[in-house]
Amino acid sequence: MNENLTADRPTFVTHLECSMTGERYEADRLHNLSRVGRPLLVRYDLDAVGASLSRDQLAARETDLWRWRELLPVRHTRDIVSLGEIETPLIPVPKSGGAKVLVKDEGRLPTGSFKARGLVMAVAMAKELGVTRIAMPTNGNAGAALAAYATRCGIETIVFCPEDTPEINVREIQAQGGRVWRVNGLIDDCGAIVGKGAGEGRWFDFSTLKEPYRIEGKKTMGLELAAQLGWRLPSAIFYPTGGGTGLIGMWKAFDELERLGWIGSERPRMYAVQASGCAPIVRAFEAGEEHAERWEDAHTVAAGIRVPRAVGDFLILRAVRESGGKALGVGDPAILKAVDECARRDGLLLCPEGGATLAAYKQALKDGEVDEDEEVVLFNCATGLKYPMPEAPNWLDRHGAIDFDQL
Ligand SMILES: *Cc1c(COP(=O)(O)O)cnc(C)c1O
Repeated sequence: MNENLTADRPTFVTHLECSMTGERYEADRLHNLSRVGRPLLVRYDLDAVGASLSRDQLAARETDLWRWRELLPVRHTRDIVSLGEIETPLIPVPKSGGAKVLVKDEGRLPTGSFKARGLVMAVAMAKELGVTRIAMPTNGNAGAALAAYATRCGIETIVFCPEDTPEINVREIQAQGGRVWRVNGLIDDCGAIVGKGAGEGRWFDFSTLKEPYRIEGKKTMGLELAAQLGWRLPSAIFYPTGGGTGLIGMWKAFDELERLGWIGSERPRMYAVQASGCAPIVRAFEAGEEHAERWEDAHTVAAGIRVPRAVGDFLILRAVRESGGKALGVGDPAILKAVDECARRDGLLLCPEGGATLAAYKQALKDGEVDEDEEVVLFNCATGLKYPMPEAPNWLDRHGAIDFDQL
């Protein structure tokens, strides 16, 4: 039996804080955005965490997401809802990427995407705080993770997707007990419906960054990466950025690890990767803006990063700038080529969003933005098996003459 899921462990959340104004909010209460409409961040008594847990103790635990309990918000072990949130591997891709390129393959998590990290935490907190009905706008993977975890602990879910969301996502949401609706609009149009219903008291709003605990779940990517690399970080991280939860979460994780004295002050350059058909963060980065305007007519094969407007835009831009990284846009043809090359040459099937990070890395290499002897981590955020693949049309008549030379 995994002790991380059974042993009661001390918790250290002190309060929540508005990411814009620093205003304090009470822990152990239901919250959405802060009074000024911005995300809330969870704060811990890190001195007390450090006194209670050492790196060595942590290393002796099973390597799943729940080994980080002291840095997570869930108070009671009984509220943990788990489907097996494993530590995801770092896979070298020497032929399609380069000698020092690692892919953190998040496709191995429950429901086949890293949305499981955020949603397992947010659902556990919803359970802890007595929520019984949740609604969410989604491009697919978040809805699937929500449906799976919420169903498991008896919370009702209503999920709204843009009508061209990949069919498999819509179906997996329904199969896992969510009530799913296709909507003739984009994810922020779906978000408006969720917001309206929440305003009428029909459900709790689980939109990206509109509840505070998804960031804490996604933060574990940064914690894990540091532990996997022997308590240091890579030179650069390429992250496919939609709402940016993961990038913001990792940046927060690095800060917490440094304050614990578990890593030093060096940081990776953070590259926020977007599709050039929906690149509000890239546009704002290049214009030197603090916030990103809505991207009109958003389109890309990488549905997970088709997010025209992000409520945490300034947090993404701040992390990218502080790290000395950049926001980079890549076109759909480059994304599909990267997916194809990684599968064909390294045997690793990426999702299109993962392909975007590989394409952006190659571009950055060409532009002299990164060096080929720098250690780089690319995020593959979902299993490639969820996405359409090129046709494989070969067919053989076993009754006819077989031309073995042609096989
Ligand atoms: C949601 C999603 C992203 C974007 O993640 P954020 O942290 O919300 O920016 C990237 N790739 C895939 C496959 C996703 O499902």
